[in-house]
Amino acid sequence: MSTSASIEQRRRRREYQKRRKKKIKKLIGIAMGVICLIIAILLLINTFSDNTYNSEEEFQEYVAEYYSEHDYHRASGLEGEAEELSFGESLSLAVRYPQIGNSVTDTYLGDVVKEFEQSFKKKYQDIEDDAKALDLIDYAIYQSPKKVNSVVLVEEEQKILKGEVTVEGLTAHAYNFSSETGGLVSGIQMFNVGYKDSISKYIDEHLQNKYDGKLLKGYQDYTKSSDDTLNEYVLIEQGVLFLFQPGTVLAKEEGIVEVLIPYEDLEGVIRDKINFRAIDPSKPMVALTFDDGPNEKTSNRILDCLEKNGVVATFFELGRNVKTFPEVIKREAELGMEIGSHSWSHPELTKLTKKEIKKELNKTNEAIKSACGQYPTLLRPPYGSTNETVEEIANLPVILWSVDTLDWKSRKAKSVVKVIKKVEKEDGLDGRVILMHSIYDSTAKATEQIVPWLQKKGYQLVTVSELLQYRYNEKPQKGKLYGYGYFYVE
Ligand code: ZN
Repeated sequence: MSTSASIEQRRRRREYQKRRKKKIKKLIGIAMGVICLIIAILLLINTFSDNTYNSEEEFQEYVAEYYSEHDYHRASGLEGEAEELSFGESLSLAVRYPQIGNSVTDTYLGDVVKEFEQSFKKKYQDIEDDAKALDLIDYAIYQSPKKVNSVVLVEEEQKILKGEVTVEGLTAHAYNFSSETGGLVSGIQMFNVGYKDSISKYIDEHLQNKYDGKLLKGYQDYTKSSDDTLNEYVLIEQGVLFLFQPGTVLAKEEGIVEVLIPYEDLEGVIRDKINFRAIDPSKPMVALTFDDGPNEKTSNRILDCLEKNGVVATFFELGRNVKTFPEVIKREAELGMEIGSHSWSHPELTKLTKKEIKKELNKTNEAIKSACGQYPTLLRPPYGSTNETVEEIANLPVILWSVDTLDWKSRKAKSVVKVIKKVEKEDGLDGRVILMHSIYDSTAKATEQIVPWLQKKGYQLVTVSELLQYRYNEKPQKGKLYGYGYFYVE
Protein backbone atom coordinates (compact mmCIF):
# COMPACT_ATOMS: atom_id res chain seq x y z
CA MET A 1 0.00 0.00 0.00
CA SER A 2 2.68 2.32 1.10
CA THR A 3 4.81 1.37 -1.91
CA SER A 4 2.05 1.90 -4.45
CA ALA A 5 1.09 5.11 -2.67
CA SER A 6 4.63 6.41 -2.82
CA ILE A 7 4.85 5.52 -6.53
CA GLU A 8 1.65 7.42 -7.12
CA GLN A 9 2.97 10.34 -5.07
CA ARG A 10 6.24 10.41 -7.03
CA ARG A 11 4.36 10.32 -10.30
CA ARG A 12 2.19 13.21 -9.18
CA ARG A 13 5.23 15.16 -7.98
CA ARG A 14 6.96 14.57 -11.33
CA GLU A 15 3.88 15.76 -13.16
CA TYR A 16 3.61 18.73 -10.86
CA GLN A 17 7.26 19.61 -11.46
CA LYS A 18 6.78 19.23 -15.22
CA ARG A 19 3.78 21.59 -15.11
CA ARG A 20 5.74 23.99 -12.95
CA LYS A 21 8.69 23.99 -15.36
CA LYS A 22 6.28 24.63 -18.23
CA LYS A 23 4.69 27.47 -16.27
CA ILE A 24 8.10 29.00 -15.49
CA LYS A 25 9.11 28.70 -19.13
CA LYS A 26 5.90 30.43 -20.10
CA LEU A 27 6.47 33.15 -17.53
CA ILE A 28 10.03 33.64 -18.73
CA GLY A 29 8.71 33.86 -22.26
CA ILE A 30 6.22 36.50 -21.27
CA ALA A 31 8.86 38.38 -19.28
CA MET A 32 11.23 38.29 -22.26
CA GLY A 33 8.48 39.60 -24.45
CA VAL A 34 7.74 42.41 -22.03
CA ILE A 35 11.44 43.28 -21.78
CA CYS A 36 11.75 43.32 -25.57
CA LEU A 37 8.71 45.53 -25.79
CA ILE A 38 10.12 47.92 -23.17
CA ILE A 39 13.44 48.06 -25.03
CA ALA A 40 11.61 48.73 -28.28
CA ILE A 41 9.56 51.50 -26.66
CA LEU A 42 12.69 53.03 -25.13
CA LEU A 43 14.41 52.94 -28.50
CA LEU A 44 11.42 54.58 -30.10
CA ILE A 45 11.23 57.28 -27.44
CA ASN A 46 14.92 57.85 -27.87
CA THR A 47 14.50 58.33 -31.58
CA PHE A 48 11.61 60.72 -31.33
CA SER A 49 12.43 62.66 -28.21
CA ASP A 50 15.97 63.90 -28.81
CA ASN A 51 16.56 67.30 -27.26
CA THR A 52 16.00 69.13 -30.53
CA TYR A 53 12.66 69.34 -32.32
CA ASN A 54 10.44 67.31 -34.59
CA SER A 55 7.36 69.45 -34.74
CA GLU A 56 6.54 73.12 -34.96
CA GLU A 57 5.60 73.13 -31.29
CA GLU A 58 8.89 71.54 -30.25
CA PHE A 59 10.71 73.98 -32.54
CA GLN A 60 9.14 76.94 -30.74
CA GLU A 61 10.20 75.49 -27.37
CA TYR A 62 13.69 74.85 -28.67
CA VAL A 63 14.05 78.43 -29.89
CA ALA A 64 12.61 79.89 -26.68
CA GLU A 65 15.22 77.95 -24.72
CA TYR A 66 18.00 79.15 -27.02
CA TYR A 67 16.95 82.77 -26.57
CA SER A 68 16.78 82.42 -22.78
CA GLU A 69 20.30 80.96 -22.76
CA HIS A 70 21.78 83.55 -25.13
CA ASP A 71 20.63 86.90 -23.95
CA TYR A 72 22.60 89.17 -26.25
CA HIS A 73 20.49 92.25 -25.57
CA ARG A 74 22.10 95.00 -23.60
CA ALA A 75 20.51 97.79 -21.64
CA SER A 76 19.03 100.27 -24.05
CA GLY A 77 16.30 102.82 -24.36
CA LEU A 78 15.60 101.69 -27.91
CA GLU A 79 12.34 99.84 -28.17
CA GLY A 80 10.85 97.48 -30.66
CA GLU A 81 11.89 94.32 -32.39
CA ALA A 82 10.84 92.12 -35.25
CA GLU A 83 10.55 88.40 -34.77
CA GLU A 84 10.23 85.65 -37.28
CA LEU A 85 9.89 81.91 -36.78
CA SER A 86 9.77 79.58 -39.70
CA PHE A 87 9.69 75.83 -39.14
CA GLY A 88 10.48 73.46 -41.94
CA GLU A 89 11.11 69.73 -42.28
CA SER A 90 14.74 70.35 -43.10
CA LEU A 91 15.41 74.12 -42.92
CA SER A 92 14.15 76.33 -40.12
CA LEU A 93 14.72 79.96 -39.21
CA ALA A 94 14.45 81.81 -35.91
CA VAL A 95 15.18 85.48 -36.27
CA ARG A 96 14.81 88.52 -34.12
CA TYR A 97 16.26 91.93 -34.81
CA PRO A 98 15.64 95.47 -33.60
CA GLN A 99 13.19 97.92 -35.13
CA ILE A 100 14.02 101.24 -33.53
CA GLY A 101 11.36 103.38 -35.18
CA ASN A 102 13.60 105.05 -37.76
CA SER A 103 12.50 103.87 -41.18
CA VAL A 104 15.97 104.13 -42.79
CA THR A 105 17.63 102.05 -40.06
CA ASP A 106 14.74 99.62 -39.80
CA THR A 107 14.56 99.01 -43.56
CA TYR A 108 18.31 98.47 -43.68
CA LEU A 109 18.22 95.89 -40.90
CA GLY A 110 15.24 94.14 -42.49
CA ASP A 111 17.10 93.90 -45.81
CA VAL A 112 20.26 92.60 -44.17
CA VAL A 113 18.35 89.88 -42.33
CA LYS A 114 16.62 88.88 -45.58
CA GLU A 115 20.04 88.49 -47.20
CA PHE A 116 21.25 86.29 -44.34
CA GLU A 117 18.18 84.11 -44.65
CA GLN A 118 18.66 83.71 -48.39
CA SER A 119 22.29 82.74 -48.13
CA PHE A 120 21.44 80.29 -45.32
CA LYS A 121 18.79 78.62 -47.48
CA LYS A 122 21.20 78.45 -50.39
CA LYS A 123 24.00 77.02 -48.28
CA TYR A 124 21.87 74.20 -46.86
CA GLN A 125 19.58 73.50 -49.82
CA ASP A 126 21.21 70.10 -50.46
CA ILE A 127 21.29 69.00 -46.83
CA GLU A 128 21.06 65.21 -46.18
CA ASP A 129 17.54 63.77 -45.89
CA ASP A 130 17.87 62.83 -42.22
CA ALA A 131 19.48 66.13 -41.19
CA LYS A 132 18.08 69.54 -40.30
CA ALA A 133 19.60 73.01 -40.37
CA LEU A 134 18.59 75.98 -38.28
CA ASP A 135 19.53 79.63 -38.68
CA LEU A 136 19.32 81.56 -35.40
CA ILE A 137 19.69 85.34 -35.54
CA ASP A 138 19.73 87.37 -32.37
CA TYR A 139 20.99 90.86 -31.62
CA ALA A 140 22.57 93.29 -29.23
CA ILE A 141 21.78 96.99 -29.41
CA TYR A 142 23.66 99.98 -28.02
CA GLN A 143 23.37 103.74 -27.75
CA SER A 144 26.46 105.92 -27.54
CA PRO A 145 27.27 109.53 -26.69
CA LYS A 146 28.28 110.03 -30.36
CA LYS A 147 24.71 110.08 -31.68
CA VAL A 148 25.16 106.62 -33.09
CA ASN A 149 22.87 103.64 -32.61
CA SER A 150 24.79 100.41 -32.95
CA VAL A 151 23.51 96.92 -33.61
CA VAL A 152 25.27 93.57 -33.58
CA LEU A 153 23.46 90.75 -35.33
CA VAL A 154 24.71 87.38 -34.10
CA GLU A 155 24.04 84.57 -36.52
CA GLU A 156 24.37 80.95 -35.44
CA GLU A 157 23.95 78.14 -37.94
CA GLN A 158 23.13 74.77 -36.43
CA LYS A 159 23.06 71.39 -38.08
CA ILE A 160 21.06 68.67 -36.39
CA LEU A 161 21.67 65.02 -37.22
CA LYS A 162 20.17 62.15 -35.10
CA GLY A 163 19.47 64.54 -32.24
CA GLU A 164 23.06 65.75 -32.27
CA VAL A 165 23.52 69.55 -32.64
CA THR A 166 26.63 70.98 -34.28
CA VAL A 167 27.25 74.71 -34.53
CA GLU A 168 28.35 75.15 -38.15
CA GLY A 169 28.89 78.86 -37.92
CA LEU A 170 28.81 81.72 -35.44
CA THR A 171 29.25 85.21 -36.84
CA ALA A 172 28.87 88.74 -35.49
CA HIS A 173 27.81 91.48 -37.92
CA ALA A 174 28.15 95.04 -36.62
CA TYR A 175 26.27 98.12 -37.87
CA ASN A 176 26.43 101.74 -36.82
CA PHE A 177 23.59 104.10 -37.67
CA SER A 178 23.32 107.83 -37.27
CA SER A 179 20.63 108.57 -34.71
CA GLU A 180 19.88 111.71 -36.76
CA THR A 181 19.55 110.40 -40.32
CA GLY A 182 19.17 106.70 -39.57
CA GLY A 183 21.73 105.94 -42.29
CA LEU A 184 24.86 103.81 -41.92
CA VAL A 185 27.89 105.67 -40.61
CA SER A 186 31.22 104.62 -42.12
CA GLY A 187 34.59 104.38 -40.40
CA ILE A 188 35.99 107.53 -41.94
CA GLN A 189 32.89 109.49 -40.93
CA MET A 190 33.50 108.54 -37.29
CA PHE A 191 37.29 108.37 -37.11
CA ASN A 192 40.13 110.54 -38.40
CA VAL A 193 42.20 109.55 -41.43
CA GLY A 194 44.66 106.78 -40.50
CA TYR A 195 42.56 105.61 -37.53
CA LYS A 196 43.11 101.94 -38.14
CA ASP A 197 46.87 102.24 -37.48
CA SER A 198 46.30 103.46 -33.90
CA ILE A 199 43.47 101.03 -33.28
CA SER A 200 45.45 98.08 -34.59
CA LYS A 201 48.32 98.89 -32.19
CA TYR A 202 45.98 99.25 -29.24
CA ILE A 203 44.18 96.00 -29.92
CA ASP A 204 47.38 94.06 -30.48
CA GLU A 205 48.79 95.17 -27.11
CA HIS A 206 45.52 94.48 -25.36
CA LEU A 207 45.24 90.96 -26.78
CA GLN A 208 48.85 90.12 -25.93
CA ASN A 209 48.42 91.30 -22.35
CA LYS A 210 45.16 89.52 -21.83
CA TYR A 211 45.53 86.26 -23.75
CA ASP A 212 49.25 85.88 -24.44
CA GLY A 213 49.77 82.11 -25.02
CA LYS A 214 46.17 81.54 -26.07
CA LEU A 215 46.40 83.72 -29.18
CA LEU A 216 46.18 81.79 -32.43
CA LYS A 217 49.10 81.73 -34.80
CA GLY A 218 48.48 84.34 -37.49
CA TYR A 219 45.95 86.25 -35.36
CA GLN A 220 47.56 89.50 -36.53
CA ASP A 221 46.04 88.92 -39.96
CA TYR A 222 42.82 90.02 -38.25
CA THR A 223 44.14 92.87 -36.09
CA LYS A 224 46.44 94.58 -38.60
CA SER A 225 45.45 97.84 -40.24
CA SER A 226 43.94 97.12 -43.67
CA ASP A 227 40.76 97.61 -45.70
CA ASP A 228 39.47 94.16 -44.79
CA THR A 229 40.19 94.26 -41.06
CA LEU A 230 38.83 96.07 -37.99
CA ASN A 231 35.48 96.65 -39.68
CA GLU A 232 33.29 94.92 -37.07
CA TYR A 233 32.77 97.34 -34.20
CA VAL A 234 30.03 99.14 -32.37
CA LEU A 235 29.91 102.38 -30.42
CA ILE A 236 28.72 101.76 -26.89
CA GLU A 237 28.40 103.99 -23.86
CA GLN A 238 32.00 103.62 -22.64
CA GLY A 239 33.88 103.34 -25.92
CA VAL A 240 34.25 101.42 -29.15
CA LEU A 241 33.79 97.68 -28.93
CA PHE A 242 35.70 95.71 -31.58
CA LEU A 243 34.53 92.21 -32.43
CA PHE A 244 36.53 89.26 -33.74
CA GLN A 245 34.89 86.18 -35.17
CA PRO A 246 35.42 82.77 -33.54
CA GLY A 247 38.66 81.12 -34.65
CA THR A 248 40.38 84.34 -35.77
CA VAL A 249 42.33 85.59 -32.73
CA LEU A 250 41.36 82.87 -30.24
CA ALA A 251 40.26 79.25 -30.72
CA LYS A 252 36.76 78.67 -32.07
CA GLU A 253 35.44 77.42 -28.72
CA GLU A 254 36.12 80.85 -27.20
CA GLY A 255 33.37 82.30 -29.38
CA ILE A 256 33.25 85.93 -30.48
CA VAL A 257 36.09 87.96 -28.92
CA GLU A 258 35.38 91.52 -27.80
CA VAL A 259 37.93 94.29 -27.25
CA LEU A 260 36.70 97.56 -25.75
CA ILE A 261 38.67 100.75 -26.35
CA PRO A 262 37.43 103.48 -23.98
CA TYR A 263 36.73 106.87 -25.56
CA GLU A 264 39.51 108.49 -23.49
CA ASP A 265 42.03 106.21 -25.21
CA LEU A 266 40.70 107.25 -28.62
CA GLU A 267 41.39 110.96 -28.32
CA GLY A 268 42.63 112.29 -31.65
CA VAL A 269 41.51 109.04 -33.31
CA ILE A 270 37.74 109.33 -33.07
CA ARG A 271 35.99 112.49 -34.25
CA ASP A 272 34.08 114.63 -31.77
CA LYS A 273 31.17 114.71 -34.17
CA ILE A 274 30.28 112.47 -37.08
CA ASN A 275 31.45 114.03 -40.32
CA PHE A 276 29.00 112.72 -42.89
CA ARG A 277 30.98 114.10 -45.81
CA ALA A 278 34.41 112.97 -44.66
CA ILE A 279 36.48 111.59 -47.52
CA ASP A 280 39.68 109.59 -47.19
CA PRO A 281 41.93 110.73 -50.08
CA SER A 282 44.00 107.55 -49.79
CA LYS A 283 40.99 105.34 -50.56
CA PRO A 284 39.36 104.72 -53.94
CA MET A 285 36.47 106.97 -54.92
CA VAL A 286 34.04 107.21 -57.80
CA ALA A 287 31.42 109.72 -58.94
CA LEU A 288 27.99 108.58 -60.11
CA THR A 289 26.33 111.12 -62.41
CA PHE A 290 22.72 111.22 -63.57
CA ASP A 291 21.60 113.30 -66.57
CA ASP A 292 18.31 114.46 -68.12
CA GLY A 293 16.22 114.76 -64.91
CA PRO A 294 14.62 115.64 -62.73
CA ASN A 295 11.82 113.11 -62.98
CA GLU A 296 9.43 112.92 -60.07
CA LYS A 297 9.31 109.15 -59.91
CA THR A 298 12.70 107.88 -61.01
CA SER A 299 14.84 110.73 -59.60
CA ASN A 300 13.18 110.25 -56.23
CA ARG A 301 13.74 106.52 -56.38
CA ILE A 302 17.46 107.15 -57.02
CA LEU A 303 17.56 109.71 -54.20
CA ASP A 304 15.88 107.23 -51.85
CA CYS A 305 18.67 104.78 -52.58
CA LEU A 306 21.46 107.35 -52.15
CA GLU A 307 19.92 108.65 -48.92
CA LYS A 308 19.44 105.17 -47.54
CA ASN A 309 23.08 104.34 -48.17
CA GLY A 310 24.37 107.69 -46.94
CA VAL A 311 26.11 108.62 -50.19
CA VAL A 312 25.99 111.40 -52.75
CA ALA A 313 26.00 111.73 -56.54
CA THR A 314 25.89 114.48 -59.13
CA PHE A 315 22.75 115.36 -61.10
CA PHE A 316 22.96 117.21 -64.43
CA GLU A 317 19.47 118.56 -64.83
CA LEU A 318 17.47 119.95 -67.72
CA GLY A 319 16.04 123.41 -67.00
CA ARG A 320 12.62 122.56 -68.44
CA ASN A 321 12.31 119.58 -66.07
CA VAL A 322 13.55 121.63 -63.12
CA LYS A 323 10.68 124.02 -63.76
CA THR A 324 8.20 121.10 -63.69
CA PHE A 325 9.63 119.34 -60.62
CA PRO A 326 11.38 121.99 -58.50
CA GLU A 327 10.80 119.98 -55.30
CA VAL A 328 13.05 117.20 -56.59
CA ILE A 329 15.91 119.71 -56.98
CA LYS A 330 15.23 121.00 -53.50
CA ARG A 331 15.50 117.49 -52.13
CA GLU A 332 18.75 116.92 -54.03
CA ALA A 333 20.26 120.03 -52.48
CA GLU A 334 19.07 119.10 -49.01
CA LEU A 335 20.68 115.67 -49.32
CA GLY A 336 24.02 117.21 -50.31
CA MET A 337 23.91 116.10 -53.95
CA GLU A 338 25.86 118.19 -56.43
CA ILE A 339 23.60 119.85 -59.00
CA GLY A 340 24.89 120.65 -62.47
CA SER A 341 23.27 122.11 -65.57
CA HIS A 342 22.47 120.00 -68.63
CA SER A 343 20.95 122.95 -70.58
CA TRP A 344 17.26 123.84 -70.85
CA SER A 345 16.00 121.67 -73.70
CA HIS A 346 18.85 119.24 -74.51
CA PRO A 347 20.10 120.73 -77.83
CA GLU A 348 23.53 120.14 -79.31
CA LEU A 349 25.04 123.37 -77.94
CA THR A 350 27.84 123.47 -80.53
CA LYS A 351 25.23 123.94 -83.25
CA LEU A 352 23.62 126.97 -81.60
CA THR A 353 24.48 130.67 -81.85
CA LYS A 354 26.12 132.36 -78.89
CA LYS A 355 22.85 134.01 -78.06
CA GLU A 356 20.99 130.71 -78.11
CA ILE A 357 23.62 129.03 -75.94
CA LYS A 358 23.37 131.86 -73.42
CA LYS A 359 19.60 131.53 -73.33
CA GLU A 360 19.75 127.72 -72.82
CA LEU A 361 22.21 128.03 -69.96
CA ASN A 362 20.99 131.18 -68.20
CA LYS A 363 17.38 130.01 -68.08
CA THR A 364 18.53 126.73 -66.54
CA ASN A 365 20.77 128.43 -63.98
CA GLU A 366 17.88 130.57 -62.81
CA ALA A 367 15.46 127.66 -62.64
CA ILE A 368 17.88 125.68 -60.45
CA LYS A 369 18.56 128.70 -58.26
CA SER A 370 14.87 129.35 -57.73
CA ALA A 371 14.19 125.65 -56.97
CA CYS A 372 16.90 125.12 -54.37
CA GLY A 373 18.52 128.45 -53.59
CA GLN A 374 21.84 127.77 -55.29
CA TYR A 375 23.23 127.95 -58.82
CA PRO A 376 24.55 124.85 -60.59
CA THR A 377 28.24 124.23 -59.96
CA LEU A 378 28.99 122.32 -63.18
CA LEU A 379 27.86 121.96 -66.78
CA ARG A 380 27.51 118.79 -68.75
CA PRO A 381 26.68 119.64 -72.36
CA PRO A 382 24.07 117.36 -73.99
CA TYR A 383 25.68 114.52 -76.03
CA GLY A 384 29.02 115.60 -74.57
CA SER A 385 29.14 118.03 -77.44
CA THR A 386 31.24 121.07 -76.50
CA ASN A 387 33.75 123.62 -77.80
CA GLU A 388 35.57 126.69 -76.53
CA THR A 389 32.56 128.95 -77.17
CA VAL A 390 30.30 126.72 -75.07
CA GLU A 391 32.89 126.51 -72.29
CA GLU A 392 33.44 130.24 -72.25
CA ILE A 393 29.74 131.07 -72.12
CA ALA A 394 29.06 128.37 -69.51
CA ASN A 395 31.64 129.87 -67.16
CA LEU A 396 31.47 126.60 -65.21
CA PRO A 397 33.66 123.50 -65.12
CA VAL A 398 32.52 121.40 -68.11
CA ILE A 399 32.29 117.74 -67.14
CA LEU A 400 32.20 114.71 -69.43
CA TRP A 401 32.62 111.09 -68.18
CA SER A 402 34.85 108.03 -68.30
CA VAL A 403 32.35 105.17 -67.97
CA ASP A 404 29.32 105.10 -70.25
CA THR A 405 26.70 102.65 -68.94
CA LEU A 406 24.53 103.06 -72.10
CA ASP A 407 21.52 102.88 -69.77
CA TRP A 408 19.42 104.97 -72.22
CA LYS A 409 20.00 102.33 -74.87
CA SER A 410 19.68 99.05 -72.98
CA ARG A 411 16.95 100.19 -70.54
CA LYS A 412 17.95 97.13 -68.54
CA ALA A 413 19.25 97.32 -64.97
CA LYS A 414 21.17 94.12 -65.53
CA SER A 415 23.25 95.48 -68.41
CA VAL A 416 23.95 98.76 -66.59
CA VAL A 417 25.28 96.80 -63.60
CA LYS A 418 27.24 94.58 -65.97
CA VAL A 419 29.01 97.49 -67.67
CA ILE A 420 30.09 98.98 -64.34
CA LYS A 421 31.26 95.65 -62.92
CA LYS A 422 33.22 94.93 -66.08
CA VAL A 423 35.17 98.22 -65.92
CA GLU A 424 35.76 97.65 -62.20
CA LYS A 425 37.15 94.20 -62.85
CA GLU A 426 39.37 95.23 -65.74
CA ASP A 427 40.72 98.65 -64.72
CA GLY A 428 39.14 99.58 -61.39
CA LEU A 429 36.78 102.50 -60.90
CA ASP A 430 38.95 104.76 -58.77
CA GLY A 431 38.76 108.31 -60.12
CA ARG A 432 36.03 107.50 -62.65
CA VAL A 433 32.92 109.43 -63.57
CA ILE A 434 30.03 107.11 -64.42
CA LEU A 435 27.34 108.32 -66.81
CA MET A 436 23.71 107.37 -66.22
CA HIS A 437 20.28 108.97 -66.70
CA SER A 438 17.83 109.61 -63.89
CA ILE A 439 14.71 109.21 -66.03
CA TYR A 440 14.51 105.41 -66.31
CA ASP A 441 13.17 102.85 -63.85
CA SER A 442 15.86 100.48 -65.06
CA THR A 443 18.57 102.99 -64.07
CA ALA A 444 17.00 103.50 -60.64
CA LYS A 445 16.94 99.73 -60.20
CA ALA A 446 20.57 99.45 -61.30
CA THR A 447 21.52 102.21 -58.83
CA GLU A 448 19.94 100.21 -56.01
CA GLN A 449 22.22 97.31 -56.87
CA ILE A 450 25.38 99.20 -57.72
CA VAL A 451 25.56 101.56 -54.70
CA PRO A 452 25.78 98.87 -51.98
CA TRP A 453 28.07 96.86 -54.23
CA LEU A 454 30.47 99.79 -54.67
CA GLN A 455 30.44 100.42 -50.93
CA LYS A 456 31.21 96.79 -50.22
CA LYS A 457 34.12 97.03 -52.68
CA GLY A 458 35.49 99.94 -50.64
CA TYR A 459 34.62 102.82 -53.00
CA GLN A 460 33.69 106.17 -51.57
CA LEU A 461 30.83 107.67 -53.56
CA VAL A 462 31.59 111.35 -54.07
CA THR A 463 30.36 114.27 -56.12
CA VAL A 464 32.27 115.33 -59.25
CA SER A 465 33.71 118.40 -57.46
CA GLU A 466 34.86 116.20 -54.57
CA LEU A 467 36.41 113.77 -57.03
CA LEU A 468 38.35 116.59 -58.69
CA GLN A 469 39.47 117.94 -55.34
CA TYR A 470 40.39 114.72 -53.52
CA ARG A 471 41.47 112.42 -56.35
CA TYR A 472 43.02 114.92 -58.78
CA ASN A 473 44.02 117.71 -56.37
CA GLU A 474 42.19 120.03 -58.70
CA LYS A 475 40.06 122.95 -57.66
CA PRO A 476 37.29 122.84 -60.30
CA GLN A 477 37.97 125.67 -62.76
CA LYS A 478 35.34 127.69 -64.55
CA GLY A 479 35.42 127.41 -68.33
CA LYS A 480 37.74 124.37 -68.26
CA LEU A 481 36.85 121.15 -70.03
CA TYR A 482 37.23 117.96 -68.01
CA GLY A 483 36.85 115.65 -70.96
CA TYR A 484 36.71 111.91 -71.68
CA GLY A 485 40.41 111.46 -71.03
CA TYR A 486 40.45 113.25 -67.71
CA PHE A 487 38.79 110.86 -65.29
CA TYR A 488 41.24 107.97 -65.32
CA VAL A 489 43.72 107.14 -62.63
CA GLU A 490 46.88 105.60 -64.09
ZN1 ZN B 1 21.42 114.19 -71.78
